[in-house]
Amino acid sequence: MLKAVFPGSFDPPTNGHLNLIERAASLFDETDVVIAANQLKSYLFTSEERFELMTQLVAQYRNVKVFLWDRLIVEFAEKNGAKILLRGVRALADFGYEFELAMTNRGLNASIETIFLPTDPKYFVLRSSAIKEIAMFGGDISSMVPPIVATALREKLRKA
Ligand code: ADP
Repeated sequence: MLKAVFPGSFDPPTNGHLNLIERAASLFDETDVVIAANQLKSYLFTSEERFELMTQLVAQYRNVKVFLWDRLIVEFAEKNGAKILLRGVRALADFGYEFELAMTNRGLNASIETIFLPTDPKYFVLRSSAIKEIAMFGGDISSMVPPIVATALREKLRKA
């Protein structure tokens, strides 16, 4: 049984994240999407909102589960018997950061391997921070996020 953990902020989930999840679902027996609830970071969506959105978005995959976690990701993997940490990489710019993160996690637990999946070219330029900015200025984000996320973003920004 090969279990992978896909950790991230998912603030909010994008089509890029979902593409990675779809591919992970066909590679691993189980994929646990772990949403960071980091007290030190400020998110646009609350942990519960991000959890709720992601849960709806992955409902179609019987081998994908969603969790909220506020501690080290390697601790989640240890506790849940996952041997793989999955991260997506877009441009080379992502790689430096992701490589360092992988080294840090390896230092914490060398029995858990980080695996990188390169983005699908369609989602090369998608990142949550840019999408939030485009939405804030009224730009069209319908090709970047699933419809429920576009609606949630509009609602959130209307109230802000
Ligand atoms: P974090 O704050 O942990 O970087 P993100 O929600 O920004 O969380 O990203 C979670 C994971 O999804 C990361 O591994 C990131 O590289 C990956 N990712 C984000 N956007 C894309 C995309 N468009 N294509 C492929 N992977 C992506």
